[in-house]
Amino acid sequence: MRRKLAAGNWKMNGTSESLKELNALRDAHPDPKVDILICPPATLITSAVVTVADHPLQIGGQDNHRAENGAHTGDISASMLKDAGASYVLSGHSERRTDHAEIDEQIRRKTKTAHAAGLTVVVCIGETLEEREAANTLDIIAGQLAGSLPDVLTAENTVIAYEPVWAIGTGKVPTTNQIGEVHDFIRTKLEQRFGAGVGKSIRILYGGSVKASNADEIFAVSNVDGALVGGASLKASDFSPIITALENA
Ligand code: PEP
Repeated sequence: MRRKLAAGNWKMNGTSESLKELNALRDAHPDPKVDILICPPATLITSAVVTVADHPLQIGGQDNHRAENGAHTGDISASMLKDAGASYVLSGHSERRTDHAEIDEQIRRKTKTAHAAGLTVVVCIGETLEEREAANTLDIIAGQLAGSLPDVLTAENTVIAYEPVWAIGTGKVPTTNQIGEVHDFIRTKLEQRFGAGVGKSIRILYGGSVKASNADEIFAVSNVDGALVGGASLKASDFSPIITALENA
């Protein structure tokens, strides 16, 4: 049984004022039946960890450098995130791939470094609109999986997030058939590469314009083990119904 995961990515949003949203999530979900993760900006990780200290809600980083430490001004290492109390980190989010020209090889190295630091990594993959319209989606997904994942991983330290780039922050959502096709494909690829035990146990999240109004139908799709949510994770009042939908899926 894969434990479901509702993950929120606050991106470059949030100040200490935003911690009240974590308190509201705690109050709304005192005993959650799914895993809950919030990835605030790095400046808030320590205070977020304190805010949820006696609650199962987990805190994650949004990126880590591929090196363990060193002369990389402005970057943050996986062990720093771990030291700050994070237990997860995102890797290869499409905004990192676009804004920072990150390629699969870097994402694979970042993921390995984060694993070594004891973090669970949410590895993000997804096609652009042009790639989908050219009927290249599954080839792109296969290539990103092959290139971004290290050869050694576990179902405990790795989560996949399928996030079509054209669905992130746009309000556009693939059909449930399209989501199911890609999630089933990812599952098959994971089983082929890592063996049935690990491949069947890795959680696969869907991300891209998930909201309370579409969560039920997305969570009913095969091999959807939760969601990575951007905009609708910023307010507890928006994220909480998504958590509840996942609990009821
Ligand atoms: C994301 O940033 O990973 C994301 C899915 O964003 P949104 O939910 O806003 O589309």
